Amino acid sequence: MGKASDTASAIGCLLGLALIAVLWSQHWALGVGGIVLLVIVVGMFAQPTECGICGNKLKKTSYKWELEGKKVRVCPSCNSALEKKRSREALKKHL
Ligand SMILES: [Zn+2]
Repeated sequence: MGKASDTASAIGCLLGLALIAVLWSQHWALGVGGIVLLVIVVGMFAQPTECGICGNKLKKTSYKWELEGKKVRVCPSCNSALEKKRSREALKKHL
């Protein structure tokens, strides 16, 4: 599922860049406006809607974790699993 949306967003980015190029060739202010619009649109669609671990659809509550240097959004159940894992690892250090 992730791959399909990656392709879609890549195509969206290319289309957006092409649009900006066209707008920019008309007037620089149009190009700047296009960039602002693109950033807003990308920001709206860039929100991951699936849990980064189990792939379940995320509802209202999602949690941010940094795993192996990557920021991921996880669902509440994976969040509690991660918290347990983290506390277990923290505990190990003290034992
Ligand atoms: Zn999950």
